[in-house]
Amino acid sequence: MTNSTHIHEENAAAPSGSLSTLSPILSSKAAAALDGPEYVPESIYVTFDSWTNWGGNLTYQPERTFHPKTLGDLKTIARLAKTHGKKIRCTGSGHSWSSTAVSKDYLVSTREMDKVSPPVHNPEGPCEGGDGWTVTIETGVLIEDLDLYLRQHNPPLTLPSNVLVGCVRYGGVLTMGTHGASVNSSTMSDMVTEMTIVNAHGELVTYSEAVDPEAFNAACLNLGLLGLIYTATLKVELMQTRMRVRDSYPRLDSIFNTSDPSASGLKLKSMVLQQDSIEFIYWPFKRFGQETFNEHIWCKQWARTTDLVPEGEEAEARKKLLAERPPSVDHPFFASFHVGEEIMEIPDAIHFPFGDGKSTVLDTGIAMKVDPDFKNVIEAFSELVEKNYEFSRSMPERMGTALELRFIRSSNKMLSPVYDEDPEAIFAMVNLMALSGTPGFEELAAATMANWIHRYNAKPHWAKMWEATPGVVPYLRQEYGPRIARFNKVRKVQDPLDMFVNATFEEFIRD
Ligand SMILES: Cc1cc2nc3c(=O)[nH]c(=O)nc-3n(C[C@H](O)[C@H](O)[C@H](O)COP(=O)(O)OP(=O)(O)OC[C@H]3O[C@@H](n4cnc5c(N)ncnc54)[C@H](O)[C@@H]3O)c2cc1C
Repeated sequence: MTNSTHIHEENAAAPSGSLSTLSPILSSKAAAALDGPEYVPESIYVTFDSWTNWGGNLTYQPERTFHPKTLGDLKTIARLAKTHGKKIRCTGSGHSWSSTAVSKDYLVSTREMDKVSPPVHNPEGPCEGGDGWTVTIETGVLIEDLDLYLRQHNPPLTLPSNVLVGCVRYGGVLTMGTHGASVNSSTMSDMVTEMTIVNAHGELVTYSEAVDPEAFNAACLNLGLLGLIYTATLKVELMQTRMRVRDSYPRLDSIFNTSDPSASGLKLKSMVLQQDSIEFIYWPFKRFGQETFNEHIWCKQWARTTDLVPEGEEAEARKKLLAERPPSVDHPFFASFHVGEEIMEIPDAIHFPFGDGKSTVLDTGIAMKVDPDFKNVIEAFSELVEKNYEFSRSMPERMGTALELRFIRSSNKMLSPVYDEDPEAIFAMVNLMALSGTPGFEELAAATMANWIHRYNAKPHWAKMWEATPGVVPYLRQEYGPRIARFNKVRKVQDPLDMFVNATFEEFIRD
């Protein structure tokens, strides 16, 4: 038992409305669960399949996968693991590239923990920077399902910023400290006002700023190391504005000009600060599969507007016009992109379509604190463009690569890659991606990460590929320094026997 947090001895009020539209998830081996050596209540489905992540770079065989539906199920699973000395990790949609969801013992799929409580309005509540609305969700809720739920609420609500994809789950995005593209926001973990987590003793612990600021800070971005997250309460806002989304395809050197990186950096800085959100996507070839260097870069800019989203015929006409605009990008992953301007509801603007619906990608990514004149971003990105071009043109099988850049504010969360004591500090979030199966990409990713760390004091995005980087764990231990001890102080109360620690974090988190 902890004295720094609230423990609920029995079921806390579960979020009420289920969003579940899931098809049955039981595998053919499910029935075998009841024949296992451990007693599992019949209500908890258990499967024995191997697990592969979305990107296809990780496959492993957990001893068993639990499919809980209730808080009681989570508590039972934690207690079973404790009794039998098993390790546990969770999986949401399996969209991380690092081995964070890997557990050789128990894996907990959160897909059916998908209930949402009606949003609450409390203008006096713990919602600094918001307008007093919060929503409490179970952590298997999909990003796109919560978007829809909030949009249909009266009054309509939204999150101010979010990850680009809608098909991942809140447990995954909060655990890993993920982020959107808004320079006015920090990470998803910074939108949390309360979290409840089932610890290694099978007890539900509530974390909030009011109860214990230090434990709350640890919980908001906890790498899955405090237990099975049951619910998260998130700040949301009234959907009073829309986004004016402007897509353009300027020359690369009009933004990333290495002949005068300081002047170029200041220009970029002013671009970034004028918008709500900005994202750059760059692919190395003018035409997909032909090695002519691409002199242009994709730029997406989002600005808040009170203008309304066009409806009916006007909307159809605009859509048609936009689809006919140049350039027709022949990179299969970005073929949905067209130059132009559109007014969109906030979730539609954030989760724009990309991908071909078939291909998956690999990704390594970092957070780097930007210099006051953004010079280091100009240098880091330009260098990446060059190195990636050399890699991509060296073999036809390497041609499906892309680079991506966004900017967000710092976070005060102790395990955040964008941790900084200055709340106004800006971080560049840089990604290097390639189609899954690209030969040599793992080596390129590791070498690029090593360079980012060495040159720019960058921190790996926890969910991306970083573990193969030489010397990365000693570097992380040095950089996170005393914050690891702070985190462990909270963690050791909840998980004294390291039940939730897998190989990904074992060395990093060592006392
Ligand atoms: C196409 C694509 C686009 C992406 N876009 C972005 C983006 O815009 N911004 C960004 O920052 N990231 C992005 N990511 C990364 C993605 O947001 C993270 O990998 C996220 O963690 C995925 O969520 P998930 O549901 O797949 O979680 P998983 O990958 O299944 O799990 C991630 C971690 O969360 C833990 N976990 C999940 N639920 C719980 C729980 N209830 N209790 C305890 N631990 C839990 C797991 O154990 C694991 O450690 C993207 C990934 C892809 C594939």
